[in-house]
Amino acid sequence: MYPSIATVCLSGTLREKVSAISQAGFKHIEIFENDLVSFDGSIKEAASMIRDFGLQVVTLQPFRDFEGLQGKDRQLAFDRAKLKFDQMHELDTDLLMVCSSTHPRAQGGIAQLADDFNELGELAAARNMRVAYEALAWGSHIHDYRDSWEVVRQANHSAVGLVLDTFHIFSRGTELHAISNIPGDRIFLVQTADAPSLSMDHLSWSRHYRCFPGQGELTINAFMQALASTGYKGPLSHEIFNDIFRRSEPLQTAQDGYRSSQFLMSMLPEHKNDVPEPTHLSGFDFIEIATQSKHLSRLQALLQAVGFRRVGTHRNMQAEHWQCNDVQFVLNSDPHFADQFLEKRGTGVVALGLKVDSTYATTKRANFIGMPVVEPEQVNALHNMVGMQNVDGTVWYWVDTSTSQHAFDSAFNKQDENADSHNPSIITQIDHISLSQSYPDFLSTLLSFRSLFELNISPAFDVFDPQGLIQSQVIYNSDSSFQLAFNASDAKSTTSAQFIQRAKGSGVQHLALRTDDIFTCAQSLVDAGVACIRIPENYYPDLQARFGLESSVCHKLKRYNILYDEDDKGGFYQLYTQPIDGRFYFEFVQRQGYTGLGAANAWLRAAAQQISN
Ligand code: MG
Ligand code: MG
Repeated sequence: MYPSIATVCLSGTLREKVSAISQAGFKHIEIFENDLVSFDGSIKEAASMIRDFGLQVVTLQPFRDFEGLQGKDRQLAFDRAKLKFDQMHELDTDLLMVCSSTHPRAQGGIAQLADDFNELGELAAARNMRVAYEALAWGSHIHDYRDSWEVVRQANHSAVGLVLDTFHIFSRGTELHAISNIPGDRIFLVQTADAPSLSMDHLSWSRHYRCFPGQGELTINAFMQALASTGYKGPLSHEIFNDIFRRSEPLQTAQDGYRSSQFLMSMLPEHKNDVPEPTHLSGFDFIEIATQSKHLSRLQALLQAVGFRRVGTHRNMQAEHWQCNDVQFVLNSDPHFADQFLEKRGTGVVALGLKVDSTYATTKRANFIGMPVVEPEQVNALHNMVGMQNVDGTVWYWVDTSTSQHAFDSAFNKQDENADSHNPSIITQIDHISLSQSYPDFLSTLLSFRSLFELNISPAFDVFDPQGLIQSQVIYNSDSSFQLAFNASDAKSTTSAQFIQRAKGSGVQHLALRTDDIFTCAQSLVDAGVACIRIPENYYPDLQARFGLESSVCHKLKRYNILYDEDDKGGFYQLYTQPIDGRFYFEFVQRQGYTGLGAANAWLRAAAQQISN
């Protein structure tokens, strides 16, 4: 199998699309009919442009409303097919993709449809061409791949084959088992798309919400295993209709598409030995904050208040290593570094460390997927960490748990300045990280993490910010030691959108640190003069009534502006600091068995932040 992508996936003119697709590394392309018809030039010129970009056309698509017609309608459909064959000749492709009919006068009946395809096969074969039949999920008579396969089988013509499209298969919940019984050489084209789980009609779901495999919730891996068992060797071609892609930079979309293709390839048995499995994460290793010097003392005070100590200073940069139990921060205020990041973005998270079992395997997989890998020599580093450059500018390093400390030993001089600090070490781990991103960056980052690491994905949910909707989704590992929340919003002034404006781009919006003692944590922050977000008073009587909390507990929650939620496993406490420079902020959480990230309170937090702003 080899990667391909349909022009319909990208925004722009045909030339812009073809250029981006070529630049992203593809060698094969599907031409969407509308892109060809709207091209400002002859088909010959389009064909030579596509060739000049080093691309080969795998199919012209879609050919609609062909089968099941009578009389004049049928004659017109065959005449249209002849025109398409002429265009395909110019495009130097031999495959016409026919999707199942939604024509109001089309009739069903496998035998008649098979006759139509046999006749079309004859026409195609006379020109050394082929046709492939796809069951649209909303086709009038054929909407199941098992039926389109039966039509192809009964057409009994070597120039007539099958299209399998993952969206159409999964959106109707069709079982995958029958795929294994189809001979691989009878499948002429495989189109791939993922999608979020949504309840809506198939057509709207398909036209607006398809996404690249790795960005949605369909079980694409199961499809790939069934497909591999057929012996299919043809194109594996993305066909995505997505409202976000339609307005995104075509190059970023094409690059994500290429990585998604590689992600699919990594699932195939033929790559079992040369591409490592998705990496198991076992939590966060460190967080590096680039800080303007005016924010440094505020960050130091905050960390010190909750029991962090400054344990090292960088050997050749103005950077400090802070630690509390196994939780580590780097505060980087180096003026040289400032030129590169701070002037562009201001104080914020610049890098994060992820704990992995094998950095070698992770790097090998990242290179196969086509992730931009950052090597230590590229960043002039004293450490030897390797990581990925995310689309939002942050670098996510992967760190072997066994050698984690080595990176700090090699780059930092040890010290223990705060040895006399009386603040108890109450932070036990990084609970979760929350990103605010533009929609294109949201999808791109989702793909990066899910193609590289072994992660689960939660269903998307809406947070009702007073200024508009924020779409939120969480990816997490098996024991929830890694939880990453994504947020994106189209509204102009939601808390999420404001972060992106102030930070001049997507990035880490908040860091949640876990404690076993939220009240001590809250008091320590008060004592250190760290301002927290004030929660509206009306919240607390409501909370008390909902969960039957003791008055004294509720009073304490209110005093410290702590939010509370429960699930069937236990309670959850949340406390938010005021944002630094209007940008990123800290959250402190305590879990008593609770498994979520406090989604039930997200709307209230957003409202409280809007009041504070
Ligand atoms: Mg399709
Ligand atoms: Mg949070």
